[in-house]
Parts: sequence; C-alpha cells; structure tokens
Amino acid sequence: MNILYDERIDGVLPNVDKAALLNRLHQQVPDLDLLWREEELKPYECDGLSAYRTMPMLVALPRRLEQVQKLLEICHAEQVPVVARGAGTGLSGGALPLEKGVLLVMARFNNILHIDPAARTARVQPGVRNLAISQAAAPFGLYYAPDPSSQIACSIGGNVAENAGGVHCLKYGLTVHNLLKLEVLTVEGERLTLGSEALDSPGFDLLALFTGSEGLLGIVTEVTVKLLPKAQVAKVLLASFDSVEKAGRAVAEIIAAGIIPAGLEMMDNLAIRAAEDFIHAGYPVDAEAILLCELDGVEADVHDDCRRVRDVMQQAGASEVRQARTKPNACASGPDAKMPSRPSVACRRITTAWTAPSPAANCPAYWKASRASPPNTACGSPTYSTPATATCIR
Ligand SMILES: Cc1cc2nc3c(=O)[nH]c(=O)nc-3n(C[C@H](O)[C@H](O)[C@H](O)COP(=O)(O)OP(=O)(O)OC[C@H]3O[C@@H](n4cnc5c(N)ncnc54)[C@H](O)[C@@H]3O)c2cc1C
Repeated sequence: MNILYDERIDGVLPNVDKAALLNRLHQQVPDLDLLWREEELKPYECDGLSAYRTMPMLVALPRRLEQVQKLLEICHAEQVPVVARGAGTGLSGGALPLEKGVLLVMARFNNILHIDPAARTARVQPGVRNLAISQAAAPFGLYYAPDPSSQIACSIGGNVAENAGGVHCLKYGLTVHNLLKLEVLTVEGERLTLGSEALDSPGFDLLALFTGSEGLLGIVTEVTVKLLPKAQVAKVLLASFDSVEKAGRAVAEIIAAGIIPAGLEMMDNLAIRAAEDFIHAGYPVDAEAILLCELDGVEADVHDDCRRVRDVMQQAGASEVRQARTKPNACASGPDAKMPSRPSVACRRITTAWTAPSPAANCPAYWKASRASPPNTACGSPTYSTPATATCIR
C-alpha cells in the first residue's frame, strides 16, 4: 500500500511476474532503457515528498514517443499501472511509484523543438526544464511566465500535470493560462492533441481539464506554451512592518487599490533572518514582516504604481519603504536567479511566503493561523516561495 494507491479502496492489482514483463518489454521495445535492479530503482523511490517512499517494480527511461506508446500498450494489456515522472521535484507525491507498477521517467524528452518569436510560442518536449524555456526565448526578448521556485529543475511536463504556479502568477496566470496545445498519450497508448496553436479551439476545454490532473489522465509528450515579451521596466519595493497582520492587511489594500503587482511576497521574521544569513541582501532583520512588491510594465506606469504602492504601504503601517537599487531578479521578474529556498534547511519552520493569489482580505488571518500552527516535522517543508531569492535592497 502507498498513499497513491490503496488496494483496499482502489482494487487489488494483479501480481504481475516482473521477469515476464521485463522479458516482454525487452522483446517488443528492445531499445527502451529499463532499470530493474534494486540499486538502480532506489533513486526513484520518491519525489520531493520524501517522507513517502516506494520502490517501483521497473523504471522506464524512454527517448522516443513510440517507446512510450508501446510501453503504455503493454502495461495496459498486462494491467500494470504506470506512474509518470518528470524531474521528481513534486511535493505532493504525484511521482511516487507503485510497487506493482512501472515508473515512466520523461526526463530524456528534453528538446526545445521550436521557438516562434512572431507568434510568441515555444513548442517543447515534456522533460524540458521550466527555466530552460525562458533561457531559449531570451534572445527574442521573450520569456515563459509561470515560474515555480523549483524552475531550475522542474520539467514543463510536471508543471502541466501540477498546474504549477509561481511568484508571477497573480499577474500572469498559472500554467493553465499559459498553454496553447498538448500532445498526449492516453493510458492505452492512444495519441491525442488537446488545444491548438490558435488562441481558442472548438469543443470542450480538455486542455484545461488535463492541466493539473496530476498525471492521471495520460502522458504529456509535447507542450506548446505562450511566451510573453519581457517588461520594459521592473522595480521592487520593500516595506517593513512590526506585525505580520499589518503586512497582510497591506497586501489586501494593494489589491483593493486595483494594483496587480508582478510579484508580491511576504516574509515573516524567521524567514527574513534565514534569508539574510544566507544571501546578505540587506533585509531588515528586526522587522516582524516584510513585503516585497514587484511592479513591472512601461516606465511611466511603473513609476506611478510605485508611488501608489508606497502610499498604501505607509497607510497600512509600514515603518519603512525602500526601493531596490539593483535589477530585480527574484520576487522580481525574469527567471534569472531563482533558487530553491536553501535557508529553509536551516530553519525549524519557514512560513510559506505569500504570493497573493488567495483572497487578499484573508491574508492577515491566514498569517495569524499559520504562525499559530505547530511546526512541521520535516524541517520547514513549505519551501514554496523563496526567501533565498535575492533582490538587493541596500
Ligand atoms: C524547492 C521547491 C520549490 C517549489 N516551488 C513551487 C512553486 O513555486 N510552485 C509550484 O506550483 N510548485 C512548486 N514546487 C513543486 C514542483 O516543483 C512542481 O509541482 C513541478 O511542477 C513538478 O515538476 P516535476 O517535473 O518535478 O514533476 P514530478 O515531480 O516528476 O511529477 C509531478 C506530477 O506530474 C506528473 N508528470 C510528470 N511528468 C509528466 C508527463 N510528461 N505527463 C504526465 N504527467 C507527468 C507526475 O506523475 C506527477 O503526478 C516546488 C518544489 C520544490 C522542491
């Protein structure tokens, strides 16, 4: 039994003979790389949710679509469950294998197939890292907006399956809002195209249904994403508060003022100190909470928004509001310098930095509740937003 599949609830899986399955796969898909020895399987026993571990029966590492298709056909015929895996950074156990199943690793599908600067699209294989899309689009002044904090490692296939978001999703949308088309294989191995290169396509919105389905509806084999032009200007304000409730209220008031920041992150004192110890960005370590607010767009709008946000923050009780002197790179626009939040490793608990897609009015209450809750056992597991992301505030 594991958290993904409980035979008492989900039905008993057949006891497939591993050697026989291996033999059949070797015969029918001779060029498919398969791992079956214990020491080879070990690295695949969990994803980022490492509290749960299960050794898969087999791991498949395909490079070609036909291999995936044949593997799915065979597994379907033998009633062997298949779990897809991208980069394995998921924190919800989605890529946790089944012991009677095959783990299908899509990481070798890592080619950027086409960038169309005129249409502002990129066609990529599912194993391409999120950040690699923006890096490939950068020479055209374009980037891919959804930016999970794991973007240096996570794959676009995993992003689709999880409908991943990031700091910039309040303004620019989640994965689902930045996709045009998916090529997928059903569990039977049937090829489907969902969506299209046009901005809309007829029929049910199966693209949206598939996005966020945690790998349960099929295997993503190709993704066409929208690209955005990089903003002309991006500026970051840092406001210090003597309570998290005040900072939370400021979030609500910024949104209520009709301003949609490109990024809006809150850090409590523990997160501030941990980040400061690590990156020495000049964060005010005596503040109970800080808000990092990124504003982007054309120069005149950004200038005006900065002034309005500064006013709102001061009215909400900010003891200090500063503007970053260096080019923003983290809370801020562009995927240049994100890194998974290493300071969290040093902390008993880092509260999730708040990137504002939840109802703004609940923010102070959310923070209060979150601070009152008992510490996580696994050393501060909510590593979603990034105290380690460095916007130099000095
Ligand atoms: C430090 C850190 C920071 C993070 N920050 C964020 C964040 O800011 N925002 C956020 O949303 N998430 C975040 N995550 C979670 C994680 O990175 C995302 O969920 C990411 O989308 C997972 O991608 P992956 O390639 O690692 O997928 P995996 O972990 O390998 O798999 C995730 C799910 O996708 C499925 N899947 C993978 N590839 C395919 C495919 N080709 N076809 C069908 N299904 C597939 C798997 O079956 C599984 O259900 C973070 C994780 C870490 C470790």
